[in-house]
Amino acid sequence: AQANVEYLKKLARPDKPLQVIVVGGGLAGLSTAKHLVDAGHRPIVLEARSLLGGKVAAWRDTDGDVTETGLHVFFGAYPNALTLFDELKIADRLQWKPHQMLFAKPGRPTREFSVFDFPPLPAPLNAAVAILSCTDMLTWPEKIRLGIGLIPAYLQGQTYVESQEHVTVQQWMEQRGIPQSVTDEVFLAMSKALGFIGPEQLSMQCVLIALNRFLQETNGSRIAFLDGSPTERLCEPLKEYIEARGGLVRTNVPVKRILTNLDENDSVAGLLLKGGEVVSGDAYVNAMPVDALKKLTPEPWRKMEYFQRMQKLRGVPVMNLHLWFDRKLSTVDNLIFSRSPLLSVYADMSEACEGYASKHVSMLELVLAPAAKYMTKSDDEILQATMLELERLFPQEIKADGSLAAVTKFTLVRTPTSVYETLPGMEAARPTQKSPISNFFCAGDFSSQKYLASMEGAILSGQLAAKAVADSYVNAASNDQSAVVAPPRQLTPRPADP
Ligand code: FAD
Repeated sequence: AQANVEYLKKLARPDKPLQVIVVGGGLAGLSTAKHLVDAGHRPIVLEARSLLGGKVAAWRDTDGDVTETGLHVFFGAYPNALTLFDELKIADRLQWKPHQMLFAKPGRPTREFSVFDFPPLPAPLNAAVAILSCTDMLTWPEKIRLGIGLIPAYLQGQTYVESQEHVTVQQWMEQRGIPQSVTDEVFLAMSKALGFIGPEQLSMQCVLIALNRFLQETNGSRIAFLDGSPTERLCEPLKEYIEARGGLVRTNVPVKRILTNLDENDSVAGLLLKGGEVVSGDAYVNAMPVDALKKLTPEPWRKMEYFQRMQKLRGVPVMNLHLWFDRKLSTVDNLIFSRSPLLSVYADMSEACEGYASKHVSMLELVLAPAAKYMTKSDDEILQATMLELERLFPQEIKADGSLAAVTKFTLVRTPTSVYETLPGMEAARPTQKSPISNFFCAGDFSSQKYLASMEGAILSGQLAAKAVADSYVNAASNDQSAVVAPPRQLTPRPADP
């Protein structure tokens, strides 16, 4: 599951480092640049926004409070992300929680959860005990049917996981005679958390990727929170690492157009930035989300199968909410699956995240999904709808009319196109890191890699893209004829569209 990061470090240093332009300063772009400097090349990251992080971006308001694009957790089953933290020497910023999965019980007292408690036993025993000992979510016949359904995933691993890409979660359950109650009790919450859509839409592959890692790895399902703003605590160290080794990370530089050469391969000639500057390099890596890449795909590339297939992928809407209360709620220090119609997962960040800790007030961070029908609603309407659900999740402490705990501040981030919508049949549309264009590569959580569209997937995609660039250079050096990234030469740029 892990790309060999040592491979890049051990490659012979290039005689002339490639200048590689990486478009997008999210985790995929920063990971690409990090691994390119490890291989001795010179990346320049171009990020459109004033801050790094993309879907993990976070910023401070005038009170100094942080607003995050999304509530993010890391899992023990994120080998590439954990290696990255080690390499950056910031592993102590991951705050590991007790090895449990907590599902809220709407209508019951706040601290009453359905708990999957993973004992200190090797996998898959710990998962088996966690499932069998959780008595209030699934009946014995339900557990047995589900357990039998998951045996092929455990025995055949990734092969089986990939073979279930074409069915939805709902269909997979029905085909195995697993009662609807199991979907409603467990997989509705999991689908919303993993893909921001319901089990009637989400590809079963997505759930199996996660469950398979949880069954295979003792700490696979263990959750960690970063200790503060991902932009400050993860992206900044990445930028420092890249720049200390000859790379450059620029912000506020949206790429407006990909300029192509009039050669047989329609290769990239340069990137036109908003404002008119043209940036050129030896190779180019896309690390923008798929929706942005689709818009910027140059005309001559659109007929190619690689880019045509990608047209099917599109980002799914999601929202991230922050509610500051005037008091401490009786919450716990972990992630909670809300099991409520509007919300997906939530956490009291005043407990779960050291950087946002408070002894006096709670700050709930909540993911609202599926979010499509709420995207056009006003902030007030969304707050009202959320408060109605919180009333059921915190029956003794929250009333929708604010008569108990009062909201002192509310912020909301709408992401109209977040991770690609993981419907059945989308896998074939995901682009490989190497593209048919000789000097163009593709990273991003949507690009082909065996993790979900996740932070782990984005980081791995960056490693794979860096490897593809570095390998093409090695090939070019060893056999000039088969050069993939050809040594820079003067080509005629295609005239820019009016
Ligand atoms: P992005 O982060 O989208 O980065 C792309 C970058 O490209 C952006 O910075 C963007 O500004 C830039 N860009 C776009 N257009 C241009 C242009 N024209 N020129 C230059 N730059 C451009 N994952 C987990 O693993 N665990 C979680 O708990 C989790 N929770 C999530 C919760 C929410 C609400 C959301 C939205 C996502 C969550 N994810 C989670 C998913 C995770 O955030 C993403 O999979 C990952 O961050 C994607 O990284 P990326 O670099 O591929 O894309």
